[in-house]
Amino acid sequence: MNIPLLDLKQQNESLRPEIEAALGRVLDTNSFILGGEVAELERELADYCGVKHAIGCASGSDALLLAMMVFDIGSGDEVITTPYSFFATVSAITRLGATPVFVDIDPETYNIDVDQIEAKITDRTKAIQPVHLYGQCADMAALNAITEKYGIPVIEDAAQAIGAEENGRRAGAMSAVGCFSFYPSKNLGGMGDGGFMTTNDDDIADKLRALRVHGSRERYYHKWVGLNSRLDGFQGAVLRVKLPHLDSWSDKRKANADLYRELFAKTALSEQIVLPSERTGCRHIYNQFVVRIPEVRDSVRAFLTERGVGTDIYYPVPLHLQECFLYLGYAPGDLPESEIAAAETLALPIYPELCHEEIEYVVTSISEYFEQTVLESASPKG
Ligand SMILES: *Cc1c(COP(=O)(O)O)cnc(C)c1O
Repeated sequence: MNIPLLDLKQQNESLRPEIEAALGRVLDTNSFILGGEVAELERELADYCGVKHAIGCASGSDALLLAMMVFDIGSGDEVITTPYSFFATVSAITRLGATPVFVDIDPETYNIDVDQIEAKITDRTKAIQPVHLYGQCADMAALNAITEKYGIPVIEDAAQAIGAEENGRRAGAMSAVGCFSFYPSKNLGGMGDGGFMTTNDDDIADKLRALRVHGSRERYYHKWVGLNSRLDGFQGAVLRVKLPHLDSWSDKRKANADLYRELFAKTALSEQIVLPSERTGCRHIYNQFVVRIPEVRDSVRAFLTERGVGTDIYYPVPLHLQECFLYLGYAPGDLPESEIAAAETLALPIYPELCHEEIEYVVTSISEYFEQTVLESASPKG
């Protein structure tokens, strides 16, 4: 068998006629930058996320940067965040000259450990930025209880979590600004780069809309120094075809996760493979299905590659140890849970179109790895 980590072909092929018609509509109107399709998509996304405003932009990375810019974050300011995420979470802070202050993760959920946040708040703290990693919300109720006390805005990095919920509230609706990505591997993926931001605040929405067009509300009159960061018409049109399917795709990912649990439960590998935990009262959208494999992660991965199973590591180097952030002064051992996770986590295929046999094959292959190593260590050497 050959099971890639992600296969976009089936999804895109099944929608090809609708996608081609949507692209044709953009060609007919020549609205290539923002335009009618993007405006419609923004309304649909606001509705989907349960917020007043959704604002398209050029990528998830830009969404994070624009969110920081709304609060005039810059030199001398601190933003509390997690070191166990995609690079853009932290580059959005450092690009503006501000300093990321890292808080370690909860080893169960891989999200920021909210209990450790308060100790890191100073009078320079300008924002707190949790990440809803792999498609599961950070503990927003507890986080918001802290930030409300201090009056510090929260920016959600919800790039992996469109449609994820905590107690019935959706990702992006639980903070000042939510930031999302349409990178093709996300649950709602475009055919190129794209992203959007959410907010319930009219003034923040107004400023975000200006910041994505060089800080101008009216053309050639610049209130702020913004970016050129717009969603294009082709992406808007494609995403409008895909959005109505998003919930069924995320539900299929969840069903695949349940099947993995059922099959792993029959293998007696509970010590060797730690499955992802699901917070109660929350909807996990499984952008990734990430297991923890202590000690032998890399050799299991090599074995799976040989057997035709695609995997990946999100993320092999925590951000506080990246070469470009060494100036911040962190050293190995400073954020131990993030460092252990970086050494032990492995993402398995979870995309919606996977069939029962394919998931079975992944689980069987992992079992075989452990059977072989047990046999090898039991056989007499020499
Ligand atoms: C994908 C992702 C981003 C960046 O999104 P792009 O659209 O690729 O720029 C930011 N943060 C996290 C957690 C992501 O997974």
